Order: sequence, then C-alpha cells, then structure tokens
Amino acid sequence: MEMKYVPTTCPYCGTGCTFNLVVVDGKVTGVAPYQRSPVNEGKLCPKGVYAHEFVNREDRLTTPLIKKDGTFVEASWDEAYDLIARKLKSYKADEMAVLASARTSNEDNYAIMKFARGVLKTRHIDHCARLCHASTVAGLAATFGSGAMTNSIGDIAQSKCVFIIGSNTFEQHPLIGRRVMQAKKNGAKIIYADPRLTPTGKQADLYMQFRSGSDVAILNGLMQEIIRNGWEDKEFIANRTKDFEALKAVVMKPDYSLENVSKISGIPIDQLKTAAEWIAKSGATAILYSMGITQHTVGVDNVKSIANIQMLTGNLGKAGAGVNALRGQNNVQGACDMGCLPVVFTGYQKVIDEAAHKKFSDAWGFPDGISAPQNGYEVTTMMDVLTEKPGELKAMYIMGENPMLSDPDLTHVEHAIKSLEFLVVQDIFLTETAQLADVVLPATCYAEKDGTQTSTERRVQMWRKAQDPPGQAKLDWQILAELSAKMGYAGQFPWQSAEDVFTEIAKVTPSYGGMNYERLRKPEALHWPCPAADHAGTPILHIGKFSHPDGLGVFFPIEFKYPAEVPDAEYPYIFTTGRNLFHWHTGSMTRRSASLESEVPTGWIEINTEDAHDLGVADGEMVLAKTRRGEIKVPARVTKEIMKGVMFMPFHFAECAANVLTNNALDPIAKIPEFKACAIKIEKIQEA
Ligand code: SF4
Repeated sequence: MEMKYVPTTCPYCGTGCTFNLVVVDGKVTGVAPYQRSPVNEGKLCPKGVYAHEFVNREDRLTTPLIKKDGTFVEASWDEAYDLIARKLKSYKADEMAVLASARTSNEDNYAIMKFARGVLKTRHIDHCARLCHASTVAGLAATFGSGAMTNSIGDIAQSKCVFIIGSNTFEQHPLIGRRVMQAKKNGAKIIYADPRLTPTGKQADLYMQFRSGSDVAILNGLMQEIIRNGWEDKEFIANRTKDFEALKAVVMKPDYSLENVSKISGIPIDQLKTAAEWIAKSGATAILYSMGITQHTVGVDNVKSIANIQMLTGNLGKAGAGVNALRGQNNVQGACDMGCLPVVFTGYQKVIDEAAHKKFSDAWGFPDGISAPQNGYEVTTMMDVLTEKPGELKAMYIMGENPMLSDPDLTHVEHAIKSLEFLVVQDIFLTETAQLADVVLPATCYAEKDGTQTSTERRVQMWRKAQDPPGQAKLDWQILAELSAKMGYAGQFPWQSAEDVFTEIAKVTPSYGGMNYERLRKPEALHWPCPAADHAGTPILHIGKFSHPDGLGVFFPIEFKYPAEVPDAEYPYIFTTGRNLFHWHTGSMTRRSASLESEVPTGWIEINTEDAHDLGVADGEMVLAKTRRGEIKVPARVTKEIMKGVMFMPFHFAECAANVLTNNALDPIAKIPEFKACAIKIEKIQEA
C-alpha cells in the first residue's frame, strides 16, 4: 500500500482553510489536518473534515454526454467538441452568454473569461457572485475604491468589538467564527444582529433581533446616536474622508431617531444605544457581514451604510477593524478577480476603458479581435432577457454553476433555461442544470487539479493534484483550450499546465503581478494586491489612504427603503433564506457526502412558536409554503429562535427548493436579487 498526504485548500466556503488529502494507492480516501496553515491552524469544520467523500462517488461524470431525442448518450470528446464548435459558430457574438464558476480555480475562470471575450466575442459573462456579493463589489468600490474584504481573517482576533450583521458566521464560515471567539476571549464585545438567534448569536454579548430588510434604518440610527454623543472619529473624518456633511444631513433626520428605528426594526432602544457605544468607543471594531446585508434590492445601500459607520468611527486601515465582507464560496473572490463579470477584465480593469480593452486585445492576440468594449448582461438580466425578449440570447455555456437551484424564482429560471436553443454544461455531477443541457462535459474536481483559489481575505492559495480524474474527465481550463483550438484559436491558448495559465494571469493583472506558484506554495501564500515580485502582499487594505485616486473614502448618505415585497393581508409573513453548517449552496457536493447528508438529510421552514400556534402548525408537520412565485411542501421547524413574523429556509435542498419562493426583484446597481426578504404565507396540508 502506498500512502501520501497532499496539502490543498478546502473547496467549500470562502474562508480558505488548508488540509491534507490522504491518498492511498492513488485514490483520495480522507482528510487530515495541515497544521501550518495560518488561516485554520489545522482545525476544520465538518464540511472540511468530509471534503473527500464526494470525490470518488460513482455518479461523477466520466464521459461527454450529448442529448439525442431527449436522452443523454455517451460521446467522445471529439464528437462533443465538434458539435459545440459548430453550434457556437452559428450564433452572433451577443446571442451567446457564459457563466463562470466560483467553485473552480482562478486558472479555470481566467480560461473561460478569455474564451467568452476572445473566442465567442460575447460581452455576456457573469457568475454567481451576482447572487451573493455583487453589492459588496459595487458598494465598497464606490466608498473605498476597492470592492473586497478590507482586513484578514487572523486579524479579527485582535478586535475589541466585533459587530456581526447579516452573517451566521459560526455556521457559514466556522473557522472565521473561531477568530471571533478568540477576540471574545481577549475581552472583545460581540454584537450580533439577525432575525434568527443562530449559533453565532448565542455567543454574542448583545443580540439584536430585527426584521429582515431594516438594515439601513438600523445603521443610520446607530450613526445618529454616535454623532449625537460626539463619539465619531473627527480626525479620521477630517483627514481620510469626504462628504461627511451630506451623510450627517441624512442620518440626523428624525426618521432615524432610535425610537423610529426601533419601530422599523423591532430592536429595543436600549440595545441600539449599547451597540452604538460599543462600536464607537472600542478602539478597534470589526464589522463582519455576509448575504444578510447583500441580498436585498438595497444591497448596495446596505454595504455603503456599513462603510459609512466604519469611516465615521475611524475603524478602517488598522488591525482588528475593517469592513469584513465574508464571501460565500471558495473562489468567488477569485472568479471576480479573474474578470468573470460583465463589466471588467481581470483585476477590475473596466471593459469600457479604452486602454484596458486595447491592453487585453493586444495581450491575447486574437486576429479577429475580442468582445466589444461595452458592458454585458448580469446573470439575473440574462434570465429576464431569455423570458422577456425571446431570440435575443440563444446559447449558453455554463461551467460549474447550478442556476436551477441557486437562482431566485426557479419557475422563472427553468422557463429561461428551457428557452435556450443550445446549452453546454461543464461540471463534475449531472446537476439540476446539467440535466437540461444539450451537451454535458465531465470536469475535474479540486482534488484532481493544480491551481489557485482566492479566499474571502484576498489570500491566493494553492490546490494540488492528489489523484487522477475519473474516466475521461478533463481539467476545466484544458477543455476550454481544446474547444478554442477546434474553433480556430489554438495559438491563443498555448498552456501546458495550470502554472502556465497563472503566469499569463499575473502578466495582465496588476494586483496579482508579483505572484507566482513558487511564492504561493508557501503556507501563508499571498494577499492581493501584490504588484511586484518583491512585494509582501497586503493583509490590510486602506492603511493611510483609500484606493480612490485622491486617497479619500467617500461617505454616501443613504435613505431607508422597505424591501420590494412586504407582508400584507394575503402573504402576512417575511420570508428569508440562508445556509446550514453541514451543507453548501446547491448541495451538489455536500449532499453526495454520506456523513454530511446523514447529519441533515432534508430542508425545513423555521416558524416562530407564536406564529405556529396561530397557524395551528406543529413541529415536524408538513406545511404548504406559498409566495407569489410558487409553492412547496416542507416540514415545519417550530422554534423560539426566529423572530415572530419571520420565516426561514435553507436553500440547499432540491426536494423542497427555497428558491421556488424567493423574489427576483433586483438591486438597481448590483442586479443582485432580494433573496433575504419577501412575503410568504403558510397553509396547513389537509388530510385527504
Ligand atoms: Fe472548509 Fe470553510 Fe469549513 Fe474551512 S470553514 S473547513 S474553508 S468549509
């Protein structure tokens, strides 16, 4: 028996923990601690502990599949490539759309971005960052000049106060939760704001239960209380920011008195007062947020409000502070960095910028040019165009995404995907989306490839190949390079290895310019920006100056707005969604892990005890959950831990898919859907 340990990075959440894959006789069989990681120091959450279990599942895709008469038939790679090349060449550039993947590596995402813009010449490329942190990218770019988490994970332990809003950190990013507990042990106050008393809230010194969708009112109220008491950081405001007076004019309005904010949010006044004092006076307050903040029609407003309160209190550009946007998926930061967005090339170089467009056009050398220097469609817009403007979009190429479970209003999404003339899906399992494809291409998972991924703290870390892929499965970037060659562009994809791809990324991406595999193989890896080979990387952003050309942070005055859909007589409750410790996103990997699936085998809807009493619903009873988009049958979980009037579902489970119910109303800037607040009703299921 031959056994080895291969250190690699966890393929689940954006924390970026490292572990060893245990390989026996060439097959991945387990996970073992890797003590040298500065992120997780050998510790793992359950998803990491069982991250080997889906790798060698029997239902991995092992051969290309072509749909004939409604049934998938196994095909050779040449047959699949020939069909895809022929079909894609028959469409005009902007009749095609591409979805990249927050689950795959930077190299894979760079390859599909180059494929979309250089081979297909389409402007329409996006990925599921649109569904989670598009508001962060837009909101923090506007306020600070850079749309990413400002501080690093280890740094959270140095905080004197940690304010967590819209993030169930202990379940979604458990190894970041560990740093929160370290801060608490060091004497920090922990404030938690959420409609549910989650495991994170149970560790807090102050728990503020609030109505989903009232975030801006709460943050404005806290800022009013801080200014009223003279607790703002006057020196920071004077030297490092602009437009403070405009902010003050809004937050000091009577609308944001604590009395009013308490009425809007449901948080008692004394709690708001305590929170304001702790945040302002701690000396180092870190705010942690996630999709409870971003997934709203006011997602960008919410993010700007968080930036406002941190600038107001001088909690930026120093250890233990910052705006810590906790990104959900392992490589959602990297997929954004790689330009898999409809408005930018890599490193957020704008496609409408003439110089950036010329730079990529020249660097890539496509003889017939690249996509037009215009912004393309976001994934949410793609779905609307497919249903509302038939014939405008005709083909889609999806790598490692599953919109048939992840996107809002699934009936609408199914209609959109079925409106396509031609769909290619490249994935490791036959997901709900892959089942609708015309061609399915078998890809490799994290355990079968070298590559890099960029975690929520902007740390670029290595994946290392631990075993061969199953059957004929291939590397994602390799598939895209081979297909591009079939379409006449072999010269533009000369790569022999993932390292070759990364070398090209570093050449065209200033924030990755000083990185190479040799430097990234070290346990600490590197945080971007790392512009030069002798640059040590940047664990904390905005020290001394912000990323705007004038170096100043910008206050944005934000008025509170209610969610697009609020409870009424017909749909009297607020509905919100989220994740669970044992599962991850659409469950394509965690639900194929026997250990994780046995912990939590299906979904549920959380109903407050008093609401359940009013409805006559018992714990465990199957109920009908209905919104204006659709209805599902789901077991009730009756609990005091959710606010009265609010209901919650995890969204991982196809058999009771929460996103049948969610609203696809969009933030006007980020085009992120309002997953976190819509109106719902519950009906008892009558016995036949
Ligand atoms: Fe993996 Fe996230 Fe768990 Fe770390 S915290 S082991 S990265 S799922």
